[in-house]
Amino acid sequence: MKFFDPLILKTEKLISAFPKKEFELCKPWQDAQQAQVIMRRDTAYELEGVGFNLVTSDDVCDSIVVVGDDLGEIKDSRRFARITLVQIEDSDDEQKAYSLIKKIDYVKYHCFPDGYMMRSTSRSHKEAVRVSKQALNDGADFKKIGSLLIEKYKEIPAVKGVKVIFITAKEADYNEAERIAEKNYAITETLNHIMNSVNFDCDTCNLKAICDEVEGMKELHFNKADR
Ligand code: SF4
Repeated sequence: MKFFDPLILKTEKLISAFPKKEFELCKPWQDAQQAQVIMRRDTAYELEGVGFNLVTSDDVCDSIVVVGDDLGEIKDSRRFARITLVQIEDSDDEQKAYSLIKKIDYVKYHCFPDGYMMRSTSRSHKEAVRVSKQALNDGADFKKIGSLLIEKYKEIPAVKGVKVIFITAKEADYNEAERIAEKNYAITETLNHIMNSVNFDCDTCNLKAICDEVEGMKELHFNKADR
C-alpha cells in the first residue's frame, strides 16, 4: 500500500521546521468505554482542526509525536491536527487493503479517552476535541491519549505500527494539513470507486485528476477489470 506515501512525505515536511517531542508508548489514558458529553462549564478548552490516518506498508514505529504545546500547557481553544501514520501488512489483495483502511478509520468512533471528547463525522476529516478541566487536573497529556489510541488501532491484527502526530503549534500551517486531509479523502474515495465500479472510461471519470496524480491507481483499476 503505497498510495498515501506522498502524503506522509508532505506531513513530514509540514512538521520539519518545528521542535518536536517524541514519546514511546506508555500506560494509556483511561478509556471511558462509551461516548461522553463534556459540558461547556466543565471544559478547559477546545481543539479544532483535522484528524485522519495515512496508511502505508512501510515501517512505522509505535510512537507519539507532539509538535507544539502539550495538553497541560494549552490555555485557550486553538487549531490543531491529529495525523496518524498506520503501518499495515503488505498485501496484493487490494479489496482487503481497502476494507482495512475503512476499519482503521472507524477506530476513532470506538475510542473514548476520559475527559477528551473527540467529535468527527463520517465522510469528513474534521476533528474537534473538547478537553475537560478534570482531565487536565488528573494529568492528561498527548503521550497517554496517543498510547490509548495506538492500543485501539492495534486491536486490528493487520496493523503493525502506529505513529500519532499531534500538532498544536500556533504557527503550523493548518491549511496545508487540511489539503493533505482532503487529498487523503480523495484517494480513499477513488479506491472505493475502483473497488466497486465497472466504468473504465477515464475521459469521463470525475476521478481522473487523482488517477493522473497518484502512481498505480489506473493500473489498479484496469488490473481489476482483467480479472
Ligand atoms: S482508472 Fe480511469 S476510470 Fe478508473 S477511477 Fe481512474 S480515472 Fe476513473
